[in-house]
Amino acid sequence: MKKMKRADFLMGAAALAVSVLGIAWSQASPVKPGAEMIVRQHNHEVLRVELTDNSEETWTLGEPGHQNVVQRKGTRARVVKADCPDQICVKQGWVDKDGDQLLCVPHRLLVEIRSKGAKTIDALAR
Ligand SMILES: [Zn+2]
Repeated sequence: MKKMKRADFLMGAAALAVSVLGIAWSQASPVKPGAEMIVRQHNHEVLRVELTDNSEETWTLGEPGHQNVVQRKGTRARVVKADCPDQICVKQGWVDKDGDQLLCVPHRLLVEIRSKGAKTIDALAR
């Protein structure tokens, strides 16, 4: 009897894991053209770009000492260079999924990828 219960539990856990992974996968699909890259600095929107084609653009944001160089290539975005002490934003690399975020905590910079019409996530706007 105990063995049966354990098997049931494992089956349930496996089913749950599959459904959780399924959700993760469906959310991890790359954004479609028309998505936007939104950059906020100190909770102010400083840049909003439509991710449309395969062209490449870079922006230097902030001032020396608090600088992030943000790059867009097609529907992908990354922080190329930053003079923050932890370099976490640079190490995150490319993002191209709906809801993906690049965060530079020392500079309070947030780069977000968002599909058009997606709900606004303003967790950091406060
Ligand atoms: Zn950083």
